[in-house]
Amino acid sequence: MADLIVRDKIYIDGAWVASDGKETIDVENPATEEVIGRIPSGTASDVDRAVKAARAAQDAWAATSPEERGKFLTRLQEAITARHGEIAKTITQEMGAPIKMAEMIQAGLPIADIATAAQLATTFEYERQIGNSTVVMEPLGVVGCITPWNYPLHQITAKIGYALAAGCTVVLKPSEVAPLCAFVLFDAIHEIGLPPGVVNLVPGYGQVVGEAIAAHPDIDMVSFTGSTRAGKRVAELGAQTVKKIALELGGKSANVILPDADLTKAVKAGVGNCYLNSGQTCTAWTRMLVHSSQYDEAVKLAAETAEAFSIGDPFDETTRLGPLVSKAQRDRVASYIEKGKAEGARVVAGGDTKPLEKGYFVSPTVFADVTTDMTIAQEEIFGPVLSILKYEDEDEALRIANDSIYGLAGGVWSGDAEKAKAFARKMKTGQVDINGGSFNVAAPFGGFKQSGVGRELGPFGLEEFTQPKALQL
Ligand code: NAD
Repeated sequence: MADLIVRDKIYIDGAWVASDGKETIDVENPATEEVIGRIPSGTASDVDRAVKAARAAQDAWAATSPEERGKFLTRLQEAITARHGEIAKTITQEMGAPIKMAEMIQAGLPIADIATAAQLATTFEYERQIGNSTVVMEPLGVVGCITPWNYPLHQITAKIGYALAAGCTVVLKPSEVAPLCAFVLFDAIHEIGLPPGVVNLVPGYGQVVGEAIAAHPDIDMVSFTGSTRAGKRVAELGAQTVKKIALELGGKSANVILPDADLTKAVKAGVGNCYLNSGQTCTAWTRMLVHSSQYDEAVKLAAETAEAFSIGDPFDETTRLGPLVSKAQRDRVASYIEKGKAEGARVVAGGDTKPLEKGYFVSPTVFADVTTDMTIAQEEIFGPVLSILKYEDEDEALRIANDSIYGLAGGVWSGDAEKAKAFARKMKTGQVDINGGSFNVAAPFGGFKQSGVGRELGPFGLEEFTQPKALQL
C-alpha cells in the first residue's frame, strides 16, 4: 500500500495554518478502494478567517497593474508546469482518470488555463468608451469558488486564474472527493510569493464550507461548478445577500449525426467523447442522434467501438477507461442502467456494473432503441453510458436535441460544414463542436437553461469577474 498523503493544514493569509475544527476527511482511490489521503474538514469559522484575509488583500490586489498580475500568473504557470507529473499522478490516484489522459488533460488543461489567463490579464479591455461615458471594468471583489471532482484541478484554475487576472481575491473550496491536487496547486501558489490573502484554501464538505461561502455577507461573488442540485442551493443562499452567482452545472448533450456525415468517424468520435473520463464529463455527448436509414449500422459501430475500450488499472498506460470516482457514483450509474432496461431500451454493449473484482468500474455501455421521454435520455448519468436515438428528418433531430432541461455542449456532423453550422445555430446549448472541432481554452464555456449561468474561460470568462462602472464626462 502506498504511503498515506496527509495534508493537515488549510491555507489562509499566505500561510499553512490549522483548521478551527478537529475533523478530517479520508480520500479514497476508486481503483483500489484504499484510503490514500487525509485532509482537514474545514468549518464556517475557517471560511470567516479566509474571507477576512481575502477582503484585507482586495484593494491592494485590485490596484496592481495588469502586467504585474500577468507576471504572477506566468510564475504560477511555471510552478505548476514543474509539478505536472505530480499533479497527473495525484489526480489518477484520487479520482481514477487513466494516467495518459490525466497527463494530457487533467494536468495539461490547468497549465493552459493559467497561461491563457496570464495573457488575457494584460490584453483585456479594462476601459471602454460609450458616448460621453468612460466605462471601467472593476474587479468584483472577494470571490468564493466551489468546485467538483471530475476535472478537479482544471475547474479550480478556470476560476482562480481568471479571478486573479481580473483583480479579485479568492476563497476556494475544492471537492472533498478529490481534493489532493488542490493542495499541490497551493504549494505552487505559496512558492511564487503571491501577496498574503490573495488566494485562500478551505477544504471540506459542501453543506458546511460550501454553504458558509454561499451565505457569507462579505463575499461578492460565488463561482460554482457542480451538480444542478447543489448549484440551486448555492443560488438560494447567495440571493440573501444579493451576491453575484455564476453556475456551471450538469449536461445531457446531443451529438447529431446528419445523414451526409462520415458515419464511422462520427460514431467513433461520439463514443470516445461520451466515455472520456469514464463518462464523468459535464460536456459529454451522452445522446447520439442518428437518421433512421443509418440507425442499425450506427448501433453496430457504436457497440464495436465501446467493446474495444480497455478498462482497468488507471496507472496502466493502455487503459482507456478508469473506475468511477466512488461507490456512490457507481451505484448511481448502475441504477440508471437498470432504469434504462426497465423502460424498454436495449443494451447492445456493456451493462456490467461490477466487471472487476476491485474498484468502482462500469463496463462501457451502449443503449439502443432509446426514445427522448426515457429517463436515460433526460437525466445526467455521469458514467460510461451512451444512449442512441433515432430521428426521421432534421426537424425531428432538432426537436430531440433541444428536448432537455440542460444545454451545455453538443456536436453536429455533416459532409457540408455550412449545413452543420446552420443546424448548430438552432441548438439551445452553450457550445457545439462541428465535425469534431477541438476544445478551445479561450472560448466561452457555460450553459443555456439549467446547465448554468455565466461563462468561464477566455475574455468572456475574465469579464465575469468584473463589473462595469460608468464615468460621465
Ligand atoms: P456536487 O454538486 O455534489 O459538488 C460540487 C461542489 O459543490 C463540491 O465542492 C461540493 O462539496 C459542493 N457542494 C455540495 N453541496 C453543496 C451545498 N449544499 N452548498 C454548497 N456547496 C455544496 O457535484 P459533484 O458530484 O462534485 O460533480 C458532478 C456534477 O458537476 C455533475 O452534475 C456535473 O455535470 C457537474 N459539472 C459541471 C461542469 C460545468 O462546467 N458545467 C463541470 C464539471 C462538473
